[in-house]
Amino acid sequence: MQINVTRSSMPPYEEYCEEIKTLWDSHWITNMGEKHQMLQTQLEKYLDVDNVALYTNGHLALEGALAALNMKKGGEIITTPFTFASTTHAIVRLGFTPVFCDINEADYTINADKIEELITEKTVAILPVHVYGNICDVDKIEKIANKYGLKVIYDAAHAFGESYMGKGVASFGDMSMFSFHATKVYNTIEGGALCFNNEEYKQVLNDMKNFGIRGQESCMYVGGNAKMNEFQAAMGICNLRHIDSWIEDRKRVYLRYIKNLSGVKGVKLPLIQENLKSNFAYFPVVFDSYKYSRDDIYDKLKEAGINSRKYFYPLTSDFECYSECGYSDCHDLSVARIIAKNVLTLPIYPELSDETIDRICDIILN
Ligand SMILES: *Cc1c(COP(=O)(O)O)cnc(C)c1O
Repeated sequence: MQINVTRSSMPPYEEYCEEIKTLWDSHWITNMGEKHQMLQTQLEKYLDVDNVALYTNGHLALEGALAALNMKKGGEIITTPFTFASTTHAIVRLGFTPVFCDINEADYTINADKIEELITEKTVAILPVHVYGNICDVDKIEKIANKYGLKVIYDAAHAFGESYMGKGVASFGDMSMFSFHATKVYNTIEGGALCFNNEEYKQVLNDMKNFGIRGQESCMYVGGNAKMNEFQAAMGICNLRHIDSWIEDRKRVYLRYIKNLSGVKGVKLPLIQENLKSNFAYFPVVFDSYKYSRDDIYDKLKEAGINSRKYFYPLTSDFECYSECGYSDCHDLSVARIIAKNVLTLPIYPELSDETIDRICDIILN
């Protein structure tokens, strides 16, 4: 049997059927219907944030944030290259210029001590990523943003359900984006959300994800279409009932990896951050002067039917589509480069058996 790096979490079949039944009564299957409203309210509570806006996917949520914050077109956004394509593409697609900052060696998030030297008069925002669910240095980032009048948008795609210092992880910055893609800790099949404290953003975000239309006869913005539909929202409502127990099961997997792999020279395990209630979304291992290279281990696991993932490799700044932009050469990204070359994320999902975890660890160690 093939083992994949993740496996989509789903509610019992009957539970989903029950949840979508009312859609056959109302015949209202998208355009911010009943399920959409219900999920939004439930997520505001679960995520411990003031406002949630739901999207058809995380990427369009991120683009929605960049479009709604009224930042000067062509401005520079300081961000990390150690992320999924979506983060950088959103910046470029919205007409901004990404300015890449190196990452921390310990937790792989943006190195907040290096942000200030990248600020120019063109800088409009900082877009950090809570990589693998590790929280960025939110305090330092907030101080810098306040000092220079910059917006802060967090890519929190990996951080669903986490809290930091007792606050929902999306309480920080101007907006945070979650992804509810099938491969994430929590899914709505595809889906995403923006969280924000300032209530004023609510109307513009909702208008913009529906072509900029407000009411029947007025169109306020050149918006797009990014609404979450009722079937997605119904999946989200069901999955939210199970999320706590799924995170518990992920924790079991996580701790077993730690137990099996700790104390091995050249095998760097993920860090458990202080004051963070983790969601155990990923298990990234960095092989640094280990007896086998990351690529060797990836191949060996693959031969055994186990799909790990070189996540994130390559750096987004090194993508072919940006080869003309010279991003890779502008700044010192040496830490990000080393991590990208040596990191491998191992399979982790609630149902992964102890036996399989042990088998994966045996392959890595022997
Ligand atoms: C998954 C992911 C996204 C995009 O989310 P989608 O819901 O797939 O559009 C953005 N950023 C990061 C870091 C991600 O992992």
